[in-house]
Amino acid sequence: MKKLASALLLCSILASCVNKQSTDTTTAADKNPPFDTYKTNFIEELWKTYPGWASSQGYHTYDSVLIVPDDASRAKELAFAKANLDSLKTYDLASLSDNNKTDYYMIENQLKSIEWSINEQKSFEWNPSEYNISGAFAEMLNGNYDSLDVRLHNFYLKMANIPAYYEAAKKNIKNPTIEHTQLAIDQNLGGISVFETDFHEAMKNVKLAEREKQAMEATAKESVKAIKGFVEWLKKLDNKTPRSFRLGKELYAKKFEFDIQSGYTVDQIYEKAIAHKKELHEKMYVLATKLWSKYLDNPATWGQKGPMEKPKDSLQLIKMVIDKISEKHVKPEEFQSTIEKQIPQLVDFIKQKDLIFIDPSKPLVVRKEPDYMAGVAGASISAPGPYDKKGNTYYNVGSLAGWDREKAESYLREYNYYILQILSIHEAIPGHYTQLVYSNQSPSLIKSLFGNNAMIEGWAVYSERMMLENGYGNNEDEMWLMYYKWNLRSTCNTILDYSVHTKNMSKEDAMNLLMKEAFQEKTEAEGKWKRVSVTQVQLCCYFTGYTEIYDFREELKKQMGDKFKLKEFHEKFLSYGSAPVKYIKELMLAEQNN
Ligand code: ZN
Ligand code: ZN
Repeated sequence: MKKLASALLLCSILASCVNKQSTDTTTAADKNPPFDTYKTNFIEELWKTYPGWASSQGYHTYDSVLIVPDDASRAKELAFAKANLDSLKTYDLASLSDNNKTDYYMIENQLKSIEWSINEQKSFEWNPSEYNISGAFAEMLNGNYDSLDVRLHNFYLKMANIPAYYEAAKKNIKNPTIEHTQLAIDQNLGGISVFETDFHEAMKNVKLAEREKQAMEATAKESVKAIKGFVEWLKKLDNKTPRSFRLGKELYAKKFEFDIQSGYTVDQIYEKAIAHKKELHEKMYVLATKLWSKYLDNPATWGQKGPMEKPKDSLQLIKMVIDKISEKHVKPEEFQSTIEKQIPQLVDFIKQKDLIFIDPSKPLVVRKEPDYMAGVAGASISAPGPYDKKGNTYYNVGSLAGWDREKAESYLREYNYYILQILSIHEAIPGHYTQLVYSNQSPSLIKSLFGNNAMIEGWAVYSERMMLENGYGNNEDEMWLMYYKWNLRSTCNTILDYSVHTKNMSKEDAMNLLMKEAFQEKTEAEGKWKRVSVTQVQLCCYFTGYTEIYDFREELKKQMGDKFKLKEFHEKFLSYGSAPVKYIKELMLAEQNN
């Protein structure tokens, strides 16, 4: 196993060398080979420090190790961060290739973020849901990267530290938030089945000596006891002064810097989101007024009581029109086949309009959503991990089979005729899937591991608007109105996250924002409130990345005038891999001005 993993690692590093040589050829003493070696060592050290993370990325050398989250392990993390920040300083940034420059920035950011999390954010004290091991253990049972014997053996060895793990957790926790405490209770209880049921099922399929079997069963029992003990401890915790789940202005601004790595400050992004929401409402009102006469001011659609009364409130008017055109949706049994048919249509449109090169040798594999994902999302992308380069990328499409009529109807209205197309643009082409194909062409293990979410989500959100701007959907008012509703979602995610964590926004105001101003259903809004009370900053990545990419494109258009070519811009932009937009922008502008 170890051999295989390091062979893959070597491949990707060689590939990045080759790539580099073709771009800059005149450097006398090339600083890139030493930096490439440094990166290899850095990742080795990273996996020793974070074995659980290694396993989740498909690097299985340390599968048997469970780190006990105590003072000693945190000291080790800090030492790792410090040593590597020192090492980084010995490289002259200017002498590195573009690929290595962005890798340098991303490593540096990761290390500083480790220091900040331990020293300042201290969520290991207030977020009990950080202590949950079942997911990692479940992956060992379900994974097919090695034989069941090997996986179960590692499972057994890894279980040994579970009691110490939860003891350390209890020592760490101080004034936890009520929301994260409840989440920890729910998730840990939910995970017990991995040790009580799934493990026993797996044991039936291996041949082991009776004594060995008994030892493994006994350790699993101890593990269950430790998890249940932790849950009971949380339930009885005398938590008189719980921390608020709201992160607070200062920590929030810092976390935004580390997680998003934007060229804008969080305050700037918030102001932009507020202005964008207003702009969207204005455009929606114009469209809704036009569509009102087409759909609702039409005798054919009147109910028994005669003509529908046109509301004076502009948001109410928009909502009624959205509700009306949401009625155009596929039948439950055609949901999958409709999405499948969209892929070649999107490819054709992009070719016809010359928007970006779509590599025909890497077609997207559309498949029925696997059972373990069932009911999660209508459609999603599963990409192979960085150590599994040959794995397929799948477009998972959910089936609505077995859903009751009411649930299916509400889902299909949400993912109606228009939104379903925008969804495929976002998830597949030219959204996430296309971005992934391009990023695989400039292989960087660093970017696969620390890939910037704002760039990744931002690209998908940007690609939706770009497609419509180029005439996708024939510029129909209905398509644009639905697109604006969809775009309002990411815009309001940012407003919500920022307001809740730094401006004390109440749940009532949050529901008002989501339901009245973003036209969401109650269940969706409730789910969003739950999400914002246990996560921070993450909800900002869509709008921030989108805004940065869009603003950058417009800036470049102005600068280049007639010379600007949309296709070239897209291909160049994606060629840097999943790096933060601000660095891609810096490198592209530097090349432009050369
Ligand atoms: Zn219907
Ligand atoms: Zn996405």
